[in-house]
Amino acid sequence: PVVARFCPSPTGNPHVGMARTALFSWAFARHHGGKFVFRIEDTDTSRDNEESYQLLIDVMRWLGLDWDEGPEVGGPHGPYRQSERMDIYADVAQQLLDAGFAYKAYDTAEELEERRNAARAAGKPSGYDGLHRNLTAEQVAAYEAEGREPVIRFKMPERTYTFNDLVRGEITFDSANVQDYVLVRANGQPLYTLTNPTDDAMMGITHVLRGEDLLSSTPRQIALYEAFAEIGIGGGFTPEFGHLPFVMGEGNRKLSKRDPESNLLDYKPKGFLPEGLLNYMALLGWSIAEDRDIFSIPEMVEAFEIGRVNPNPARFDIKKCEAINGSHVRLLSEPDLRDRLVPYFQAAGLIDDEPTVDQLSTLEAATPLVHERMTLLTEAVDMLRFLFVAEQDFAIDEADAAKNLDEAGLAVARAAHEALSAVSDWTTEPIEEALRGALIEGLGLKPRLAFGPVRVAVTGSRISPPLFESLELLGRETTLARLSAVTA
Ligand code: GLU
Repeated sequence: PVVARFCPSPTGNPHVGMARTALFSWAFARHHGGKFVFRIEDTDTSRDNEESYQLLIDVMRWLGLDWDEGPEVGGPHGPYRQSERMDIYADVAQQLLDAGFAYKAYDTAEELEERRNAARAAGKPSGYDGLHRNLTAEQVAAYEAEGREPVIRFKMPERTYTFNDLVRGEITFDSANVQDYVLVRANGQPLYTLTNPTDDAMMGITHVLRGEDLLSSTPRQIALYEAFAEIGIGGGFTPEFGHLPFVMGEGNRKLSKRDPESNLLDYKPKGFLPEGLLNYMALLGWSIAEDRDIFSIPEMVEAFEIGRVNPNPARFDIKKCEAINGSHVRLLSEPDLRDRLVPYFQAAGLIDDEPTVDQLSTLEAATPLVHERMTLLTEAVDMLRFLFVAEQDFAIDEADAAKNLDEAGLAVARAAHEALSAVSDWTTEPIEEALRGALIEGLGLKPRLAFGPVRVAVTGSRISPPLFESLELLGRETTLARLSAVTA
């Protein structure tokens, strides 16, 4: 059975690259009917923090990437935060030492530096030279007597490592390029090099999907799994690996935390749907079929094949992400869309925390007017603000007013007020008839010049839903009041 995982470190804000990795690993697990483990790699106390941890949980929940084992959910291999597993790592390190797979190295920083420089000068590899691999008991005693505190290094076997990357095919590393690496710092802090494979082994991870940046750590980790198998840690097997392509930002650089669009926390407030963002992220290295961009997440799960992931870097394009989001907005049913809009109207102060019946029915009636006209949910707030805003807060966009409510525009508004005053059945058709009669036939205006001033006076903006429907929803009294307010 497949067991995949996502194991971010909680530093800073969750970002898009991270979520793409989570999505692929999750889709892989779900496609194979396997398990998805969520683990928090928070051993670096100087960088990890509780707020980032919570943000990670929240964003995974928002995206709907559910986990079978992990924080808040628990599971048989917990705890799932590495900060709570320190005893385990100390124990594993000791077992590796005892079995001769690791050793204590007492080199000082200065000594390492000196030898590294000498190696460089001689044109040799400048990684750790293995000098403390085979210290005698006397040498160890002498270093200990000096008060030196050792790191623990893994004894990298001298051989080549070949594995079949699920995305990239066969990859071979020559161990001449892989030195004995540090598992535990001198102060006792276990490093990613130890904690990540330990947990993958103990949690029964069968498939490691992660970013391409970690490719070079794979031979070291394979060597460690092989040592684990010998000393009985984990299930005795080495997981399979798949390294996902980089996500590139502007200027063909790796998308980084500095790029504003990489911040995952911005997507919800900006009005993205989780299914829109997920659909777009799925395209960062994968496609469901040629010339098909839009799909649901269940469709992705059904079709997801890791072997079809493209190893080449994927370019992040926010415009395309928005367009795909728009397609998903249009796919929503009207009641679903309305429910999802409510929190945005609440955030804008246009609907109460406890929505009134009136507010909900206005939103229900207005939703169809904007459904086809937005890519982001926040655009509905902008387009429909005029229906919800308290009269004293109603404001007209200044640039639109300057263009549409000049002298000629005000004359139009006056004529519209007069025509609409006579409408008694306040529904779309009579409203339209009255305005067409007065402005197009009566004043001989082109539609744009006729309706622009009315639109701006009543909705506050050129960008608003269809006019006659909008006036019906706004109501007779408010419509007339706004028209006379501009002409007063
Ligand atoms: N905590 C590591 C990271 O966020 C996990 C790497 C891995 O998937 O092996 O980069």
